[in-house]
Amino acid sequence: MRASLLHHARTSHVSRAFLSRTLTVSAAAAAGPVSVPSVKMAASKSQSGSRVLLGMSGDELQQVALDLGQQSYRGKQLHHILYKRKVKEIHDFVQLPLEFRRELQEAGWSVGRSPIHKAVTAADGTVKLLIKLEDNLLVETVGIPVEDDKGSFRLTACVSSQVGCPLRCSFCATGKGGFSRNLKRHEIIEQVLAIEEVFKHRVTNVVFMGMGEPMMNMKEVLEAHRCLNKDVQIGQRMITISTVGVPNTIKRLASHKLQSTLALSLHAPNQKLREKIVPSAKAYPLDAIMKDCRDYFLETSRRVSFEYTLLAGVNDAVEHAIELAELLHKWGRGHHVNIIPFNPIEGSEYKRPYKKSVLAFAAALESRKITVSTRQTRGLDASAACGQLRNEFQKRPLHAGTDHQQSQSEVAIAS
Ligand code: SF4
Repeated sequence: MRASLLHHARTSHVSRAFLSRTLTVSAAAAAGPVSVPSVKMAASKSQSGSRVLLGMSGDELQQVALDLGQQSYRGKQLHHILYKRKVKEIHDFVQLPLEFRRELQEAGWSVGRSPIHKAVTAADGTVKLLIKLEDNLLVETVGIPVEDDKGSFRLTACVSSQVGCPLRCSFCATGKGGFSRNLKRHEIIEQVLAIEEVFKHRVTNVVFMGMGEPMMNMKEVLEAHRCLNKDVQIGQRMITISTVGVPNTIKRLASHKLQSTLALSLHAPNQKLREKIVPSAKAYPLDAIMKDCRDYFLETSRRVSFEYTLLAGVNDAVEHAIELAELLHKWGRGHHVNIIPFNPIEGSEYKRPYKKSVLAFAAALESRKITVSTRQTRGLDASAACGQLRNEFQKRPLHAGTDHQQSQSEVAIAS
């Protein structure tokens, strides 16, 4: 499979912000406490209440073994089985004695992996997966294979942090589809493992740009981030967390001093226009966001990537680019703009910009010393560019096995 994926993936580049996303602010929703992922974390619980192994650290897994009367090296074996061998069911932990496996199950443990409900592959090798969660909700994740000009291969997993999204960015179907619930940490981690399973290749990059606003589920996102980094062994610098800007959360994220990229979905160079595109921006003035992004850079030394979806006739004029450059320069250095030409979606009031508008916009930024990348269009963009897309699967919180889901599956396969 990988060979054919690679064949189709020889585009020049897909940036880490390949997938547009926009997140909106709900001050009330963001106001809850966000705990720091500590060395000692409670076991995540599945929807049915079983305790979940996936997401636990090496130390915690050793404690699980000790609690069941085993020696601590059994915990190390558990860690290896979960994160290196990536076994999905306890009864398949064949390296462990049958008795220990039985004890794990009787003590209410499960791995925390879910079945892949649907996989859709584009001609360029991008794969969208629908994962069927324990409560029958479907969550989407996207695998993006890229081989660069030098022949090195990257596999990016675009992961969701919520089922649906409570925010209502004007150009995004996900929010219009409603919100169901936050994902637990293992439900985020398993998306990455599912991509690896399908591609038979390690995921090299993770972008939190799928369904939902990560900052509104920060505790689980940070715990998943810890596990993906420490246990699954994906470098922090290979992980991007995207947000539309939720009050008080960028500071909290910065306080963790992660070496991961913050992607801020901006989409407008001024507050008035931004509120039209991202209605929840009313709760988080642009200057406050820019200050928090500057502080994130100062705190972490990690450049902030600003995502800017170009909407024809709305925010794509050269004047907007000039205003954007001024805004970025006003707030210091360490900025990068990722331009995403909008992909028209069913029922959207917005249109895709002309190529000459995209080029002129990028040139206006570059001539003002702003680094720019422009997202390349790929086969599944219309249905897989999570965060922007009018994904047919996301018209409403998804439940597996409904007529709606089935018909939409067929649409996606046909596209
Ligand atoms: S998923 Fe859509 S509605 Fe939700 S924050 Fe992202 S762009 Fe906005």
